Amino acid sequence: MKKEFGVYGGQEVPPVVIQALNELEMAFNEAKNDPAFEQTFRYYLKQYVGRENPLYFAKNLSERLGGANIYLKREDLNHTGAHKINNTIGQIILAKRMGKKKIIAETGAGQHGVATATAAALFGMECEIFQGATDMERQKLNVHRMKLLGAKVTPVYQNTATLSDAVDVAINHWVENIEDTFYLLGSAVGPHPFPTIVRYFQRVIGEETKAQILAQTSRLPDIIMACVGGGSNAIGIFQSFLEDDHVKLVGVEAAGKGLDTKEHAATLTLGKPGVIHGMHTKVVMDDNGKISPVYSISAGLDYPGIGPEHAHLQDTGRVQYVSATDTEAMDALKMLSRTEGIIPAIESAHAIAEVIKQAPLLPKDQNIVVNLSGRGDKDVESIMAYDELLKT
Ligand SMILES: *Cc1c(COP(=O)(O)O)cnc(C)c1O
Repeated sequence: MKKEFGVYGGQEVPPVVIQALNELEMAFNEAKNDPAFEQTFRYYLKQYVGRENPLYFAKNLSERLGGANIYLKREDLNHTGAHKINNTIGQIILAKRMGKKKIIAETGAGQHGVATATAAALFGMECEIFQGATDMERQKLNVHRMKLLGAKVTPVYQNTATLSDAVDVAINHWVENIEDTFYLLGSAVGPHPFPTIVRYFQRVIGEETKAQILAQTSRLPDIIMACVGGGSNAIGIFQSFLEDDHVKLVGVEAAGKGLDTKEHAATLTLGKPGVIHGMHTKVVMDDNGKISPVYSISAGLDYPGIGPEHAHLQDTGRVQYVSATDTEAMDALKMLSRTEGIIPAIESAHAIAEVIKQAPLLPKDQNIVVNLSGRGDKDVESIMAYDELLKT
C-alpha cells in the first residue's frame, strides 16, 4: 500500500473505511483547487478566529536568558485559545461542501472537542463528541463547554476509557453512519488523507510566521521550535521552512516523569515503528510490541503515536526531536508568565523549556521562533494541583 511519508502513513483500516477515506480525499482535492473554498476558509480565519495573530518579540525573556532573541507565534490569541480551531474550521467547511449533516470527533482532554463543537455551532451542524469516561471526569469544564455549544458528549467506557478508546469508538460510529456523517480528526494523525488535510489547514501558521519574521528581522529565523503531541501545530509552523535547509527545526515531546521511567509520552525519542489508529508511524510499545500507556502532565501531549510525517522527518534528519519533563515544562510556564505576562498552555510550555535550554548558549544575533500553540487558562487547575504536590 502507498505511504505518503517515506515508510510511514498509509491506510491500515477495514475496506469500508477505505471507501470513506477515498470519498474524503476526492472532496479535499477538489476543494483545494476551488478558489471559493480557500476564500471562505480565509474569511473565517480572519473574521472569526482573529488571524493573523502576532509574532511577538519576547524581549524580557530574551534578556533574562541572555542569548538568542526569542519570538513567539501567538496561536494562544486565537478564538478558543489554541491552534486547533484552524483545523476544525477548515474541516467543517469541507464537510458542508460534501453535503454532510453531522460532525463527529474524538477528544482526550476536551480541547479538540471544544474547537469542533465551536465550529459546528458556527456552521449549524449537528455535533457528537466521543470522550473517554475517565477523561470526562477529569475535564468537567470542557464537557460543559461542549454541551453549552450544543454538542452531544458521548462517554466511552472501554479499556482505559481515555483518548485511544475514544478514537476507536468514533471510527466505528463513522463506519456505521458514513452517508451523512463527517469525522473531524484533531491532529496530523490517522489514516491518509487525514494527516495531509490537517497539515493543509494548519499551514497558515508557518505562512504568517515567515512573512512576519522577514518583516521584523529581514531574514529567516535560525531555529523554530514547537511542542509535539500528534504533531499538528508543529507541522503547521515547520512546513513553510522545510526547504530552507539553514533553518533548524526542533520538535519537543513530553518526557513526563523522565525518559528513564515508564511515565512519558516521548514517542519519537523512545518509540518504534508500528501501527496505531490506521497509520504506520512510531509508537510507544513494550517489548512484546503492545502499545504502552503514556503519561504527561499535559493532556494534549499524552498520545502513544505521532503524526507519520514527523516519524519521516526524524528519519531524514530534517527535524530534530527532543523532550522536556513535567518539571521543566512547569518551570518554563512560570518563567514565561512572570517575564512576559503570558501564561502558556502546559503543552506549549514544553517548547519554552527547550528555548530555556538552548537560548543562553547561542549568540545574541541568533533568532528563535517558538510556536506558542495555546494559552494556559484551561490549565490553571492542573497548575494548582502540581504546586500543591510540590509542597508535600
Ligand atoms: C492539542 C494541543 C497540542 C498538541 O497537539 P498537536 O497536534 O501536537 O499540535 C499542543 N498545544 C495545545 C495548546 C493543544 O491544545
